[in-house]
Amino acid sequence: MLYESTRNSNVSILSSEVIMQGIAPDGGLFLPKELSMVSLETVKKMVDMDYCKRAESILNLFLTDFSTEEVQICVRNAYSNKKFDTYDIAPIYKLNNRQYILELWHGPTCAFKDMALQILPQLMTFAREKVGQKDQILILVATSGDTGKAALEGFKDVPGIRLVVFYPDEGVSDAQRMQMITQDGANLDVISVAGNFDDAQMGVKNLFVDEAFLQQVKNLGYRLSSANSINWGRLVPQLVYYFSSYCDMIRAGAIVAGEKINFVIPTGNFGNILAGYYARKMGLPINRLICASNMNNVLTDFFYTGVYNKNKEFKKTISPSMDILISSNLERFLYEMTEHNSQKVSQWMKNLKQDGIYEIDSETHSVMTDIIWAGYANDEQTSETIDSVFRDYHYLLDPHTAVGEKVYLDYVKQTQDVSKTVIIATASPFKFASDVLLSLYVPEISLSRDIFDLQMQLEKISGEHTPESLRILKGKQVVHTKKCSKHAMMAAVSAIIKKADS
Ligand SMILES: *Cc1c(COP(=O)(O)O)cnc(C)c1O
Repeated sequence: MLYESTRNSNVSILSSEVIMQGIAPDGGLFLPKELSMVSLETVKKMVDMDYCKRAESILNLFLTDFSTEEVQICVRNAYSNKKFDTYDIAPIYKLNNRQYILELWHGPTCAFKDMALQILPQLMTFAREKVGQKDQILILVATSGDTGKAALEGFKDVPGIRLVVFYPDEGVSDAQRMQMITQDGANLDVISVAGNFDDAQMGVKNLFVDEAFLQQVKNLGYRLSSANSINWGRLVPQLVYYFSSYCDMIRAGAIVAGEKINFVIPTGNFGNILAGYYARKMGLPINRLICASNMNNVLTDFFYTGVYNKNKEFKKTISPSMDILISSNLERFLYEMTEHNSQKVSQWMKNLKQDGIYEIDSETHSVMTDIIWAGYANDEQTSETIDSVFRDYHYLLDPHTAVGEKVYLDYVKQTQDVSKTVIIATASPFKFASDVLLSLYVPEISLSRDIFDLQMQLEKISGEHTPESLRILKGKQVVHTKKCSKHAMMAAVSAIIKKADS
């Protein structure tokens, strides 16, 4: 399988090069020239497989320059019971006859980012060998909270790789910050940036196209790559759980093979939902993909009007991992919607960069809305949803997943669609214990600033256990205290690689 850039369809490279580069030199994003289809027969065969086998089947279609043995090694290292706290890896939970929850938070950092970031380092290690790269890989990550920790866990002490994570100083939850600043590993740095996620993401993206900086990186024996969802290597592993959960729905007797279902995706950078789009395009019977946003609802407006306008006030919400105004992966979706028209996409992205706004043509707009339905929830609605789902089903949702649930209920009201639906649960409620507790109307709560105390209270109310990886943060030493302004990110990275070099 060959890959091209959303800003230049003449590019033609293999997956190992795509994974190594992260982002195309022209500023575009890589994606496959053509997709392989997956027949219903193949899906049926996957029903009896475990998660690893399903993952191998899907990954082999995309990583054609990897041997099946290599893919198997990557998959087995990533999705093991050493890393995930359930044998099923990505289990579904039946909420009621129509709604199923796909729990993607059983990995080491309690958010769905582990699904991709546990395997990306393995893929990158093989990719580095394949392209004969001798330089060290320098991975720069901007995080809205969950990617940072998942990347730190995935890449810690991986030979040949150095990782720098930037997080917005006031944009992450207490648990998310604790997870990152206590991270051990000799090849990692964590830096707090004064600003919001978009500032951090824009800062990182700019480094990737800064000639002088790239030259310096090269002179010091490094090569840049990305672990954000702009890297295609992040997206492929995310296709797997769409197929896998569909198979689990068949296995549970919830659907018959071939029956179309909906997926609801709490969305930020548009990576997760894009993976769902590709699964649908490859033939998985998906009716609608439902794009759920919080009050940073640029995407909701976009799907309604065809105008993308990021010139809005950035709002801090209780679902911080979705506090994003520029959804990078939308670029890939638009490229698909225009039948790979790199000229159109380049122009829109230019307008976005210059004016913060672009408008797509009505033809593109109408194909898009057949596939995706978009909605949003504010914090109050999110909290009410956490509370009502807990009262009705004794099931805890984290705030991101609750946004999805609320938007799904709006969707049903508006469309009367009765298809079976999978709501993607993107984080453990214990990772956001304070906002989850505040949402539940339980009299005995005493609000504390101590996250461990809050987790304990949540345990008592729910009867669930705090995931081990969150519990052990207690008493861990803070080892990362670096800070910088959004204009000083380059200097911060330079200092790190110069020091490592000396
Ligand atoms: C990253 C994240 C999201 C958003 O996913 P995208 O792929 O960026 O759209 C939603 N919820 C949680 C908990 C996340 O960590």
